[in-house]
Order: sequence, then C-alpha cells, then structure tokens
Amino acid sequence: MNTSEFRRRGKEMVDYVANYMEGIEGRQVYPDVEPGYLRPLIPAAAPEEPDTFEDIINDVEKIIMPGVTHWHSPYFFAYFPTASSYPAMLADMLCGAIGCIGFSWAASPACTELETVMMDWLGKMLELPKSFLAEKAGEGGGVIQGSASEATLVALLAARTKVIHRLQAASPELTQAAIMEKLVAYSSDQAIQVVATLGTTTCCSFDNLLEVGPICNKEDMWLHVDAAYAGSAFICPEFRHLLNGVEFADSFNFNPHKWLLVNFDCSAMWVKKRTDLTGAFRLDPTYLKHSHQDSGLITDYRGSNKVNEALLQRINSAKKIHLVPCHLRDKFVLRFAICSRTVESAHVQRAWEHIKELAANVLQAERE
Ligand SMILES: *Cc1c(COP(=O)(O)O)cnc(C)c1O
Repeated sequence: MNTSEFRRRGKEMVDYVANYMEGIEGRQVYPDVEPGYLRPLIPAAAPEEPDTFEDIINDVEKIIMPGVTHWHSPYFFAYFPTASSYPAMLADMLCGAIGCIGFSWAASPACTELETVMMDWLGKMLELPKSFLAEKAGEGGGVIQGSASEATLVALLAARTKVIHRLQAASPELTQAAIMEKLVAYSSDQAIQVVATLGTTTCCSFDNLLEVGPICNKEDMWLHVDAAYAGSAFICPEFRHLLNGVEFADSFNFNPHKWLLVNFDCSAMWVKKRTDLTGAFRLDPTYLKHSHQDSGLITDYRGSNKVNEALLQRINSAKKIHLVPCHLRDKFVLRFAICSRTVESAHVQRAWEHIKELAANVLQAERE
C-alpha cells in the first residue's frame, strides 16, 4: 500500500468505523456462531496472491463481524466496561505511526517523559498522596501496564525482591531460594493475587484500607491496592473518600480502559518508590515471561443454584442482551454491568423487562 492508497483507505476505514459505531445498537450483541465457525470460511494456509482491499473489507463484514461479541453495544452488560472513544482511536492510529518502544529513556525520550507527566496528572486528578507522584524530584511515580492483572503481578514481584533484599541484608547466609519458600501473600477471595481491592470485578466490594493499611505498614508488608474497576470514580470529589487509606499502600493501580474512554490496554499503576520496581526488573527480567495470568473472570458452572443458571442460559440464548455470571460465597449470581458509553436508562429498562419475562418463564417451568 503506497501513501496515496493509505490516504484513501484510511478515510474509508474511518467511515467504516463510524458506521459500525453508529449502527452497533442494531447488531445482535452476542454472535450465533459455534466453536470452530471461522476455520472453514478462510483458506487453510496464507494465500500466495494478495486479496484486494475491497475483498478484505467485505470479509470483515461477512466472516469476522458474525463472530464478534459487540462489547460497545448498549445491550452488552457482561464482564465490565472496556472503554473506547473516537479520540482514543485516533490516538491509537498515531501511536501505530510513531511505533516506538520506550524500554529506555533514549529509546524515545518523549515516550517516557509524556507517560511520567500524564501519570502525575492522572494521580493529581485522583488526589493520590504526593508520595506516589514523580514530579521533579519525587521518589514515586506512575507507569502504564497492559492490564490490572499485570499491574498486580508487577507489584507482587517488586514486593518479593524488596523483602529478599531486606532479609539478605540482615542475614547474608540466607539464599534467595530459602527466603522465597517462606514468603506469604494475603488477599481476599475476590482478588487475583496479593491485594486489597477497591471495587471488585464481580460485585464492586471494597476492602477496608483504613484497617488493612496500618497493619501492613506495622508488619513491613507490601500493600498493593487494585482499584481497576472503580478507580476512575475517585476523580469525582463525592467518591474520593473511598480511596482513603491509599496512603498506606506501596503500589496502586486502576484501569482508564474501563471508565475513562481510553482504548484497551491501559492500566495506570503508581508506586511510592520507583526503585522498588526498576530494581525488581533489572535483577531478572525473565520474571515477565510469566506475567499473563488468567484474570479469573470467567466462572465455571457448578451443580447448585439451578434456577439462576437456567435464567442466565435463557438470557444468553435469547441474545437480546449479554450477561456473564459470577460466584459470590458459593451463590451463582447474574451480574449486570453497565458497559457501553451509549447506554441510556431506556436500554436498562428494556433489559430489565426482558430479564423479568424470562425469569417468569423459568419459574413457570420449575412449577410444571
Ligand atoms: C477488571 C479488573 C481486573 C482485571 O483487569 P485487566 O486489566 O483486564 O487485567 C482486575 N482487578 C479488578 C478489581 C478488576 O475490576
């Protein structure tokens, strides 16, 4: 593709995307396809000759779109919101063009510096304690991670390295392996790992930071606070009090890609001591190879809670709306998450009527 074709196709793509976004409400939110639907529709091996651009775009509508779950449909109430907005899409395009990898300052100075300053801006919007900011001479600072799961893992690795160093300084005869087998991480049953969670994914429950924080500080334990889901809300003064206690934390993250209209992936993470992070990863960057963990968001069905399970099955086979379940203290729970930026109360009302109707059917079937 040469530059003049790029100009033309780029404009066509913008139109395609704008039409997609404008017409998304008319598309069925969850696809009709069965596992394996795609393979028979495309060649078994990469074609020797190129397709035309028109053919490729036609294939998107014919082959890809029928298999897409439309996360930005106002009838998508599953998992959690993932942000998207026109400015963010345009920014992604520019990022693709600049295409730099900022693994060091010199690899692209603007990349590192913009990230640091923007993370200070965002931290100030949340009124994070100053100790989390880089500013001109601070020891803290923010860094963007791909996902909240990554941010939590990064915090765990930094905590591990820090405690190993501390113990080895006190007793040099201890090996890393001997220390590691004794390390312990605590979390609630709603967390992914070693964290206090402000706003869990399943039901937006909050750990009590004002209780947990001082204990962690007293016992010299790393406290990571995961506010992936709810964190954006702390920008609103009326919700900021929910972040109280973050001053006890060593690290904190939230996901602008959930509520702040930034495309996936963007998890903002702050630490009080930047050297805890940089130190951990300079020592053994191979840790990162294991950084992708199942986020635990997909819950497998269990034997009990039959009625709710039957209801969810009806809801999701009707395909008017889309939900995913969760388990809370062994109860099978239907989660209704407000996801799309374009949801209005009419969508929620319609969804609720639909759920009530199917629930009545399920109960009727139970009685018969
Ligand atoms: C959504 C969510 C996550 C997972 O987010 P990813 O960025 O997809 O890893 C982790 N923790 C909480 C509390 C969440 O709401």
